[in-house]
Amino acid sequence: DMDVLDFNLESLLDDFAMTMAVQAQQKGLELICHAEADVPLWLRGDAGRLRQILNNLAGNAIKFTQKGEVEVKVALADPEKKPPATGELSSAKDPEEVRLLFSIRDTGIGIPEDQVHKLFQKFSQVQTAANRQFGGTGLGLAISRQLVTMMKGEIGVHSKEKEGTTFWFTAVFPLQKQQENQKPLIPEKLNGLHILVVDDN
Ligand code: ATP
Ligand code: MG
Repeated sequence: DMDVLDFNLESLLDDFAMTMAVQAQQKGLELICHAEADVPLWLRGDAGRLRQILNNLAGNAIKFTQKGEVEVKVALADPEKKPPATGELSSAKDPEEVRLLFSIRDTGIGIPEDQVHKLFQKFSQVQTAANRQFGGTGLGLAISRQLVTMMKGEIGVHSKEKEGTTFWFTAVFPLQKQQENQKPLIPEKLNGLHILVVDDN
């Protein structure tokens, strides 16, 4: 079941980045986490489930990377269908939901091309020497795919062995109503996150 509530994407990302930064730091990895400026931040949806997907994918990125960086990015999946800017009154023609594209890029060990097709199956783990020194049960991606499907999205991966991997997923979120009443929760730029600017006029 989905737990649909209003949430602010920026505070979700900020909280997520703080949790992940600890894990990244322990491995000496840089963690970059940001949303593009045109991404609406006041959304409705299952924030807990979204966190779970991000935790799984970023957890993998950190686990399978020895040096370099992990970048988590959020963008509009359909940039031509821009939602109304915050503070604008929404008119009838404005879209009521938005499809977002999340990507989690690492500079880790990568995934052999012939293994990619089974990654999202339960209990599947890449069977190479480089991979099997790591723990886990092989469920994170299978669960993530299920959660993404519940959010009317898709999940996929691009990878190159010894260079790195980018997992991406899309998900659909209804926009919160009454965006004009909402204020940013975080007053200034933090962790590379874009901050909502509200025009009081
Ligand atoms: P669990 O998530 O249950 O703790 P797991 O991490 O092994 O275990 P999945 O998250 O489902 O399981 O990932 C499946 C396999 O895909 C991993 O075991 C690993 O071989 C490969 N994999 C996943 N993410 C990456 C990544 N970012 N870089 C390289 N290999 C990856
Ligand atoms: Mg995992």
